[in-house]
Amino acid sequence: MIIKEDKNIIQNYFEDNSGVRGSNADFVAIAEKEEDIPIFLKEMSDKKIPVTIAGALTANTASGLSFGGVVLSLEKLNKIGEIKKIDETNALITVQAGARVNDIKSKVGSIGWLYPPDPTEKNAFIGGNIATNASGGRGFKFGVTRDYVKALKVVFADGSISFIERGKYFADKDGKIIFDTDKGKKEIVLPKYILPKIKNAVGYYNYTGADFIDVLIGSEGTLCAFIEIVLKLIPHFKEVFGGIIFFETRNKAYEFVRKIKDISQKTKDEKLYNSISAMSLEYFDKNALLLIRDNYPMIPINIEAGIMFEQDVYEDNADVLIQKWAREIESGGIDMERVWFASNLSEMEKFRVFRHTIPEKVNEIVKKNKVPKVGTDFAVPEGKLSEIIDFCDKEFKNISVFNLTFGHIGENHIHANIVPVNEAQYQECRAMYIRIVQKVVELGGTVSAEHGIGKLRHVFLEEMIGEEGFEELAKFKKSLDEYKILGIDNIFPKKYLI
Ligand SMILES: Cc1cc2nc3c(=O)[nH]c(=O)nc-3n(C[C@H](O)[C@H](O)[C@H](O)COP(=O)(O)OP(=O)(O)OC[C@H]3O[C@@H](n4cnc5c(N)ncnc54)[C@H](O)[C@@H]3O)c2cc1C
Repeated sequence: MIIKEDKNIIQNYFEDNSGVRGSNADFVAIAEKEEDIPIFLKEMSDKKIPVTIAGALTANTASGLSFGGVVLSLEKLNKIGEIKKIDETNALITVQAGARVNDIKSKVGSIGWLYPPDPTEKNAFIGGNIATNASGGRGFKFGVTRDYVKALKVVFADGSISFIERGKYFADKDGKIIFDTDKGKKEIVLPKYILPKIKNAVGYYNYTGADFIDVLIGSEGTLCAFIEIVLKLIPHFKEVFGGIIFFETRNKAYEFVRKIKDISQKTKDEKLYNSISAMSLEYFDKNALLLIRDNYPMIPINIEAGIMFEQDVYEDNADVLIQKWAREIESGGIDMERVWFASNLSEMEKFRVFRHTIPEKVNEIVKKNKVPKVGTDFAVPEGKLSEIIDFCDKEFKNISVFNLTFGHIGENHIHANIVPVNEAQYQECRAMYIRIVQKVVELGGTVSAEHGIGKLRHVFLEEMIGEEGFEELAKFKKSLDEYKILGIDNIFPKKYLI
């Protein structure tokens, strides 16, 4: 274990993408080999010293930032193993937690395999992605990180090591799970709250008869350290094409998305490779498009919304599939002058840049204003999206602060960004965000679909599970971390651990 104490050298571990200041720690411990971790955690538990596990520190919820105690970094545990082919359509790869997502994707991609989760920030460590259950635009077709984790080698706070395979340890009817560690069996009982069955990243994932591996994924460094991960791979696509469609009304955009979602679901269920099957469906509202018009003056005028789509291709039939999309678009009464097509991966890359220009521009404004933005990360159940967007619109009109909405419409997961120019407006926006969150919860949605709760979103999670839910989370955490040392203040406020 390498111990670094010089404050100038360890300063890098005190900043992530949240903009939160004041992070500090007595020292940073950098594991040189896997065996360092159980010894270190046992010692910290015995001394009751809080440990924050740092990944690549790209989270925007301050979950990897320490406020006292020590930092444990797995950055040197970055081995990517060899691919183990199971059959023509399935393979596995074992990686260490400090491997970067980009490196994993490149290695497997170079030999025809795909690790499908695609969060935008690919410099993150796979351990960080597992701890936050990261997901990206292609989640519409491929799902989230959790869907590709076959097994986890973990170390608990008391230094015990466990290999948790998918399908091995399930909760019984009372939520009890008994599992093996190198120091004997452990018995735990899951919290009682049940999360909505939609994309979500709000801490311990709990469902009736839960598989233990699913509960650990998304636990934001509060239950254990992930040290090795077995990931599932699928065959890589041959090509990708896509487009951006501009609509005069939002309702027309919603209608189009509904139609494509229906077709894509059927295609997926029937495993058809010769039909429309969207890989991603992204939404841009009028303000999002206006914001980037300087960069893209060819964006048509008088439009209310845009939809970007991608489709992955596995046979030599891209042209046929593009024709099918064109027919579907035309049959929806959409003016083909308002459609941009990309016929291959490199052209499609330009559209991905188009999409990323929106948050980049927002961040530029935020930096200039020197006031944080308020950004939502909610998802709602099928059929509730237009209701929540209309609700947000009414709220935005009441406060007259610059706002825009974009995001993963395929999964009813939307990022509304509200950009205040001063502290008074910021407070107004935060109050409004609570009202939006309350509406999301009323509609059966989740307050965080992608980025997690960390230290900044407790108030939103409280709207979903209440104080009682927090008590349950704390009780559950204590059953795996007796001396309460791991990831303090992540997911729920630390006062619940007293
Ligand atoms: C430009 C940008 C775009 C982004 N886009 C997306 C996106 O599309 N989708 C998305 O989901 N997120 C996105 N994020 C957020 C961020 O990249 C993810 O949350 C990511 O999973 C964090 O990984 P990390 O390695 O940086 O972890 P960190 O930020 O260092 O830590 C995050 C959490 O993981 C825990 N952790 C890290 N490693 C381990 C481990 N080995 N064992 C146990 N716990 C651990 C930490 O304690 C902390 O709680 C984006 C961020 C940026 C800056």
